[in-house]
Amino acid sequence: MDQTPMHEASLTKNPADPRAILSDPLLNKGTAFTQAERDRLGLHGLLPSHVSTISGQIDRRIAVLRAFSTPFEKYAFLRDLQDTNETLFYALLAQHRAELLPLVYTPTVGEACVRFSEIYRRPRGLFLSYPLKGRLRQILADLPFEDVEVICVTDGERILGLGDQGAGGMGIPIGKLSLYTDCAGIDPARTLPILLDTGTDNQARLENPLYVGWRNRRVRGADYDAFIEEFVEAVQERWPGALLQWEDFAGPNAVALLSRYRDRLPSFNDDIQGTAATALAAILSAERLAGINLSQHKILLFGAGAAGCGIASLLVGELEARGLSHDAARGCIYGVDRDGLIIEGVNVAIPGQALIARPEAEAAEWLASGKAPGLIETIERAQPAVLIGTSGQFGAFDEPVVRAMAQHHERPIILPLSNPGTRSEATAGDVQAWSDGRAIIGTGSPSEGGDGAVTQVNNVYIFPGIGLGALVSGATRITEAMFAEAAKALASLRSEGGSDALFPPSEQLADVANTVALSVCKVAERDLGATPPADGWENAIARRRWVPAYRDDLLSVE
Ligand code: NAD
Repeated sequence: MDQTPMHEASLTKNPADPRAILSDPLLNKGTAFTQAERDRLGLHGLLPSHVSTISGQIDRRIAVLRAFSTPFEKYAFLRDLQDTNETLFYALLAQHRAELLPLVYTPTVGEACVRFSEIYRRPRGLFLSYPLKGRLRQILADLPFEDVEVICVTDGERILGLGDQGAGGMGIPIGKLSLYTDCAGIDPARTLPILLDTGTDNQARLENPLYVGWRNRRVRGADYDAFIEEFVEAVQERWPGALLQWEDFAGPNAVALLSRYRDRLPSFNDDIQGTAATALAAILSAERLAGINLSQHKILLFGAGAAGCGIASLLVGELEARGLSHDAARGCIYGVDRDGLIIEGVNVAIPGQALIARPEAEAAEWLASGKAPGLIETIERAQPAVLIGTSGQFGAFDEPVVRAMAQHHERPIILPLSNPGTRSEATAGDVQAWSDGRAIIGTGSPSEGGDGAVTQVNNVYIFPGIGLGALVSGATRITEAMFAEAAKALASLRSEGGSDALFPPSEQLADVANTVALSVCKVAERDLGATPPADGWENAIARRRWVPAYRDDLLSVE
């Protein structure tokens, strides 16, 4: 299904109150309204005299932003801009992406979720709280959000590695959808961030008088499931075919919701599937860089929760595709969680861990000490070529761990992926130093490391393209094969220069999204019967792109 996008923001015709156009972030141009527009729309007096251009506004805004001293202040400034002039916000982001991405997304978005109630000013997206149960269908039907095509939803229970942030978790869907627009060119009028406020078990939030969420302990069990079901049915009725991205749900819910809904609507869990594809892409790039063949090596996952198990599942698929049997592929992967090396019948804590649990017989010798070996002992015994961190445990990859990795491999691949930086298993600089500059490194949040290139191994390299590809192809489901192919497409973009960078720089994220989207369209064509347009998927992808430029049709309104 190839749809040429139209900007659907409603244009108030001859508004009785000209302030309406200034307070619509999708129509507002601020000081860039021309004299003719000011005449026509009755804006004189409501704006200062200066008539600017969008590039002049970008220069002014970036200068003001740089004068703030903390990332959090900069975040709040950017959110204000997004809520007052969305076109300028995206134009600014596109022009200064490398500088602004860490502000609108990780790591700063983590602090923004923790302190969300302090900076809550204007409505954005939907807060659907549990007391509204039974009314969701009507609420969605009554709201003036037409033609929504991408929804990002969270319940705020596991925000990055920062735990339960309740309603503050809304910062995540807002940030993710900003990246859908910035990277994949999805019209912001067609995106919708949603916070399902089912309470919080964060005592500090419950006791904080500033907290803007529903002040209640979390609803759990059948009541929670029924609320989610009501939500999904309401979404399907109001916006049939819309893509639903599940984001930052706590592990057990994340897994359960994905399996319940993945075949009912175009839907995926970014923490599980997006992370898996991003990590696989990083590993495929690093494999080439290190000059090794993955299928002959061991991979160690530290922290086998939602993200870790998602990575394991995609890795097993990749190794099987290279000709390994299922058992041989599983055998390449070791998982270490809070109770040590994951061993069948001993410490498998969640169903996803079963895939990588070591057979009890194999581990018998390891269990001689009476308990499952920890991280360093597992490294020493298994000698993995790749170490991935998705544990949220700051500093877990300490000097002995990194040195143990570097002892057995010329170019150990070390990916501390946990976010934000305060939860990262290691800093890039430390990994570089402790591996004598030999490690190939990727980190979850942006990280400076010695003199080598350090890649931010983050889902932003995958999810915008997945969404774009799904929309362009009209996919009714988001399949595992799409993530596997997306990973390969991303890995193929690594330049063969002398750099250790695993992915292209963030300035190229729009091209990355197009490449990933193309791989998704091809899978949709191959596996789901999607029909390519006559001029091919590439053109369909290019046509869909919303660009942050002011509309020039405001004068033609009758
Ligand atoms: P999760 O809670 O489902 O999983 C965390 C796992 O770590 C759990 O299995 C937990 O038991 C384990 N763990 C906790 N303490 C441990 C310890 N001391 N030793 C070993 N294991 C321990 O959470 P998740 O969704 O899998 O996310 C985990 C981390 O990964 C978060 O910090 C998140 O920000 C990060 N992440 C990064 C990206 C990225 O793109 N870079 C994407 C998704 C998640």
